[in-house]
Amino acid sequence: MRIVVVGGGFGGLACAKALGNSPHQVLVIDKKNFNLFQPLLYQVATGALSPADIAEPIRRVFKKYRNISTVMAEVERVDTATSHVVTSDGRQYPYDVLILATGSRYSYFGHDDWAQHATSLKTVEDARLIRTRLLTAFERAEKSTDPEEQRRLTTTVVIGGGPTGVEMAGAIAELGRWTLEGEFRNINPSSARVILVEGGQRLLGQFPEKLALYAQRELENLGVEIWLKRRVTEMDASGVRVDDERVPAGTIVWGAGVTATPAAQWLGLETDRTGRIPVEADLSVVGFPGIYALGDITAFTQDDKFLPGLAQVAKQQGRHLGEGLRSATEPGQKLAPFRYHDRGNTAVIGRHAAIFDFGRHRMKGRLAWLLWAIVHVYLLVNAEKRALVSLQWLWRYITKARGVRLIP
Ligand SMILES: Cc1cc2nc3c(=O)[nH]c(=O)nc-3n(C[C@H](O)[C@H](O)[C@H](O)COP(=O)(O)OP(=O)(O)OC[C@H]3O[C@@H](n4cnc5c(N)ncnc54)[C@H](O)[C@@H]3O)c2cc1C
Repeated sequence: MRIVVVGGGFGGLACAKALGNSPHQVLVIDKKNFNLFQPLLYQVATGALSPADIAEPIRRVFKKYRNISTVMAEVERVDTATSHVVTSDGRQYPYDVLILATGSRYSYFGHDDWAQHATSLKTVEDARLIRTRLLTAFERAEKSTDPEEQRRLTTTVVIGGGPTGVEMAGAIAELGRWTLEGEFRNINPSSARVILVEGGQRLLGQFPEKLALYAQRELENLGVEIWLKRRVTEMDASGVRVDDERVPAGTIVWGAGVTATPAAQWLGLETDRTGRIPVEADLSVVGFPGIYALGDITAFTQDDKFLPGLAQVAKQQGRHLGEGLRSATEPGQKLAPFRYHDRGNTAVIGRHAAIFDFGRHRMKGRLAWLLWAIVHVYLLVNAEKRALVSLQWLWRYITKARGVRLIP
């Protein structure tokens, strides 16, 4: 069978790998030529790692599988009548089985114009832009003679108290406090403000309250101001309005709303508010035998709850689907139902603390941080990246340095 996988992220890659050296002809289409390890993007955004440390050419991943080929192209639509995927360069790719794994993107709750001021963290470009904005703000503050402007430029507002917001706020606070400290003559980077704004009652809504409170305390120890039950109502190039309070800021980071990429529209599907594709237990798209969806773009229900948008969900779904299709003989064949096994949820706060929620067991503190580091290194795509990232972390742990601080 001709199997086309759209998206070479966590889910698509796991699925195609499971089909490696199978009797099927597999084509992976991605608009980028690399697979990105998004959980460590915040370290690129704060100068700790470089993009190449957490990205791997998709072509290289599949080098050893003769039945898998790769195309770099952006899919624009799917012609279900003729079973073709159509890309933005006008090419068409036929399929017998189609797998959609295009992931999610950030949503600005109807304020799309905010995107120009508040950078989200999803791509390498996003991470680079945040890093540039952060470092440029400090450089401009050093040149300014106006204390108010210096204060504004060295204030960062992070919007959204989920794992991305928490990780970003912690890393930005450490950047000012430890890395840049002593390098400037007219400003004191360690007194830079980092404000984390969250509309809900507490941070990290998907974690148990005790762990979330611990994370909050650790962030406060790093000097992060946490504003709960408050909402950003306006935004421009020089700051934000939070409820009725104007907050001048040099850098704004967005980590609030997530929505699916528009793959559902390619199939003309009705979706929920987040744009996710409804799938059957075997991950086939409801009403489209032979078309499957996995990862962040799917609305998969297990035990009456939707599975969260996590890398481990996408990976497990990808592997399950690939293994199921390996022995399939015709498109649209019913496959074994998918069941997700939760291996624990984690978030990291700075370079000393993390939280782990394993369901019945929980963990926090330095030991959790060590486990977080081991797990993330292990999950990187190959041995080269693992060695590179481990070395850099060890060096940074000892020196507090962040080596990737070039402003392009
Ligand atoms: C900053 C950040 C931190 C995170 N931290 C964690 C964490 O610690 N733990 C965890 O479990 N999860 C984490 N996640 C979530 C995790 O990254 C996602 O759940 C996971 O990436 C979903 O996998 P996916 O395969 O569905 O999509 P992705 O991995 O996003 O892959 C989608 C792929 O599709 C491609 N694509 C998109 N549109 C098109 C198109 N039209 N044509 C061709 N190609 C296309 C993209 O280029 C991309 O390669 C984090 C996410 C972010 C953004």
